[in-house]
Order: sequence, then structure tokens, then C-alpha cells
Amino acid sequence: MALIVQKFGGSSVADAERLMNVARRIVDTYRQGNQLVVVLSAQGDTTDELIEKAMEISENPSKREMDMLLSTGEQISIALMAMAIEKLGYQAVSLTGQQVGIYTNSFHTHARIENIDGKRVKDELEAGKIVLVAGFQGVNEHGDITTLGRGGSDTTAVALAAALKADLCEIYTDVDGIYTADPRIVPDARKLKDISYDEMLELASLGARVLHNRSVELAKKYNVNMEVRSSLNDHDGTLIKEEAEMEKTMIKGVAYDKDIARVSILSVRDVPGIAFKIFKLLADADINVDIIIQSIGRGDTKDISFTIARNQLTEAVDLINKNLDYIGAKGVNFTHDVAKVSIVGAGMANHPGVAAAMFEALAKEDINIHMISTSEIKISCLVRKDETEKAVKAIHERFGLGETEEE
Ligand code: ASP
Ligand code: MG
Repeated sequence: MALIVQKFGGSSVADAERLMNVARRIVDTYRQGNQLVVVLSAQGDTTDELIEKAMEISENPSKREMDMLLSTGEQISIALMAMAIEKLGYQAVSLTGQQVGIYTNSFHTHARIENIDGKRVKDELEAGKIVLVAGFQGVNEHGDITTLGRGGSDTTAVALAAALKADLCEIYTDVDGIYTADPRIVPDARKLKDISYDEMLELASLGARVLHNRSVELAKKYNVNMEVRSSLNDHDGTLIKEEAEMEKTMIKGVAYDKDIARVSILSVRDVPGIAFKIFKLLADADINVDIIIQSIGRGDTKDISFTIARNQLTEAVDLINKNLDYIGAKGVNFTHDVAKVSIVGAGMANHPGVAAAMFEALAKEDINIHMISTSEIKISCLVRKDETEKAVKAIHERFGLGETEEE
């Protein structure tokens, strides 16, 4: 008998009809002789609607009360699902984060799970019930409800799978799995059979928004086998696990991120300690810097450029403008007319020429590269925003990612 944790996202349980379909699917898995824990998100746009309700009352509601409010969305889903399963003639029980014993720290609206006491869940499973757990929520040391940040139900599922030592954690969503590129841009993008935790983390943080990043970090830490699959069909999904060796391709996929900006600090004095001053200022303001480039000095000055999330642009530029004298710089310029296009693959470390091939693909399309950064498993290029789609297509094609269907 296998113990499986399944998670269904908000769109999969959005209305009564879809909820009944998911209930049938859950019952099918149960009838195959598995123990089953099912984590659910709030129905459809419920969480957004709850946030709107709060905003109608106050522009700055307390985070404790936000958590009290937002956690109700998931409770609706699990209660309705328990009723649906019972209607099909099977036994189910719905449990909140507190009832399960999902203990978190006290960072309301973005709490982290610290510990799970799975006793109640295990008892219910032993009694033969299908256990339905509210995603996205936990309880802190004071007994107050917390939530885990938007999209946090994935993390609930993986954390439960780790705590219960489940055999598999299946994440059901409205896409079939993880693709070699965004299928809306690259029609021949191919679904991956498997991908390693590290590759998935890179793809996720590079803008392939399928999974909550934290869920993949947890899966890696506790070696949880995860599968991303569609709730609308029975197709195989993508397995996320330690070593993805079935697929030996060196490049797994192409990702892009348009929500970024480039900042350049001009004519900085070319003396030791300047980079430290700049990036310490940014770090203290909690501004996360990604690619950094420093030009070779002309005379006694140089330029330093870096990329950040677009929503931190104004803050970063203000901060630098205020500190021009302190930094010893002449000025600052910036743009958000940029995007980051990246390739990811653990295999590239052992293959020379990968970077050259990526640059060749861009050159052939006459796309100018503004910045480059590399690591063991990824290469990123900064390009003009309106060239993103063209760049992703050209690179996908250059590495033949759409072609091979491995056995
Ligand atoms: N309902 C929450 C949200 O919309 C959590 C989740 O869906 O995972 O962010
Ligand atoms: Mg949701």
C-alpha cells in the first residue's frame, strides 16, 4: 500500500462540477489501494476576492487578521470536497492546518513551516479515511493562524509528504507538466519526463511559474519525489527528483523573465570598496540584485550595472540618487525595457560550447545582448523586452529542444 499526497490547485476545484470531477479522481486513486492525503487550495479566485474585501475596509489591515481571513478560502474547499467524497460513498475528513499540527513561525502572510505533527493525519488514515488538508495555512506558537505566502499550498503538500514519509507527492494543476519552454511562445515545446531539483529551482526562479519555489526547496531537502500533472487529463506529468538521468540532454529548458530592470551607476571612482558600498546599501534596503557587470576602468572611473526585480526599480534608483556623493559616482541611469532569457541544464557543466551556441542563436536573429551571467547549470542573457519571444524561440530551436522524444 502506497501513501500518496496529492495537491489540487484553485482552478481544479473552482466550481461544483470540477470539484466533483476531482472527487472522482481522488476516489479512483483510493480504490487502487492507496492511503491518500489531499491538499486543496481555495476555489478559483477566492483568495484574490478575500484580499479585495479586506482592501475595501482598510488599506493597511493587520497581517494577523489577513491570515485569519485568507485561511478561510482553503477551508471552504476541504469541507466541500469531504462532502463530495462522502456523496460518492467513501469516508473522508477535512482538517485545518491547526488540526493537522502544521507549526510555523510568526511571519504572518509569509510564514515558514517549522514542524509538522502528523499524528491526527496518521490516525485518520489508519481508520481508512481519505484525509483532506487545507493548504497554505499553519499555526504559530501562540495558536494563531498563519499563511505561507501566495501559492503556498504546493509547499503544504511537499511538507506533509516529507513529514509522513509519503511515497509520492503529486501536484495537480492546469498544465500537463514542466515544458522545455513556455508553450504559448514555442508551439513545439516538449514536456519533460523528469527534471532534477536544482534544475527545477533554476527554472522556477527564472520565471517558469508552475510551482511555489519553496516547495521545490523542501522537496530537495527531504528528497520527496514530486510529480507535476494535469487535473484535466490522465497524461503522465513531469517527475522532479534527485538525479534526472533518464533524460541525458544537456539543456533542459529555456526560461524568461520580463519583470526585471537594469540600473547603471556611471563614472564610479575606480578604487577599492566601491562595490561594497553600493551593494551594501541595496542589501540593507532588501533589494535583491541579480546580474552584475562592472566595466573596465577608463582613466580613474568605471561603470557598474546590475539587474533587479522591476517592482524595486523606483526604490533602488531613489536610494542611489540620494547616495551619489557617498558612493562617489556621477549619475545613474536605468530601464525596464529589458528581459532575461536563460537556459538551464545540469549537463552543460561538462559540455564546452554551450554559451557560444546560445550567443550564436541570438546573433543570427540580430538580437543584442546587454548583459550575461553564467553558473554551473544556467546561462542568462539580458535582451530588449520586445525581443524576448524571438530570443526564446531561437534558442529553443538551436538546442533542438522540441525534437527529441526520448524512449
Ligand atoms: N489560495 C492561495 C493563493 O491563491 C494559496 C494557493 O493557491 O496555493 O495564493
Ligand atoms: Mg490560489
